[in-house]
Amino acid sequence: MIIKDLPWLEPQKTLLRGAYAAGRLAHAFLIHEARGAGGDVLASWVAQLVLCTDVNHRPCGVCAGCRRAASLQHPDLITLELIEESRQIRIEQVRELSAELALTSHQGGYKVAIISPADALNRAAANALLKTLEEPTPRTLLILVATQPSRLPATILSRCQRIRIRAPARGEAVAWLQSIRGPAEWGAALEALGDAPLFAADADPKTVVEFACDTQRVLEETSSGRADPVVTAERWGRTDLPLRLLCIENWLTDRIRRHFAGGTFSVEMTARVHLQRGPAIPSIRRLFGLMDAVQELKSSLDAPINRSLALESLLRRLATS
Ligand SMILES: [Zn+2]
Repeated sequence: MIIKDLPWLEPQKTLLRGAYAAGRLAHAFLIHEARGAGGDVLASWVAQLVLCTDVNHRPCGVCAGCRRAASLQHPDLITLELIEESRQIRIEQVRELSAELALTSHQGGYKVAIISPADALNRAAANALLKTLEEPTPRTLLILVATQPSRLPATILSRCQRIRIRAPARGEAVAWLQSIRGPAEWGAALEALGDAPLFAADADPKTVVEFACDTQRVLEETSSGRADPVVTAERWGRTDLPLRLLCIENWLTDRIRRHFAGGTFSVEMTARVHLQRGPAIPSIRRLFGLMDAVQELKSSLDAPINRSLALESLLRRLATS
């Protein structure tokens, strides 16, 4: 699905449009997006802003410059992304990009590079990129898109102007999803997907809600020793694993949030533990450890791993926490 307008990006667009008109556009941006909130959409829009050939209404969205940039076919737009099964953006890719950027633009204007996900740059790649950031050629624009910019070296971060995209309010996201996909249980789907509207836009909301309910029930049973990790892992490994991992991640995020929310959760749960063998409370350290394990599993989804075994190990950690 090609997505053009995300209403919650208007404030960022207004600022960027103003900076461009005033000739003060930075030469490097870091778009720090909440998951599924449209970082790539904004990056494409910025590319169109500088590559548009309509001098009065930039970006017009209809000229050849805009259309080519939107479909990533513009000769002056270079994109850097994960290649096939790799989990990292490598130094060779950055070197190629830097060489391309050093050339004169095909159309006498800007040359633009979009790096997404920029938090997948490995250390060597990030160091190589630093050179390009430190000595920018005139009329080049680097756009990095990341959900976890803290993974990038501080030297990279300090050279980019940061643009933050937060998850839109639930109501706004629901209205947008309805406008492009029609009525459905979008609120519940967003709840399950952690308010990531672009993920929801690609999903079947009914399936998402069913998955989320099932995941939550089984995780709670697992943490209190009432579900068998082997049976669950076997079942979960057979179906949509990326969606399942997203649901697990949200369940963990919710637990972590409750831990920090001021103690009501802990008090309530501790009381219940005394009364019966109710849901156990994984310690905060365990929760973060589990979250790391989920991230690890997510980033290795394309690799030939034994999914059931990896899930089983994750569930066992939950069961013993
Ligand atoms: Zn245009």
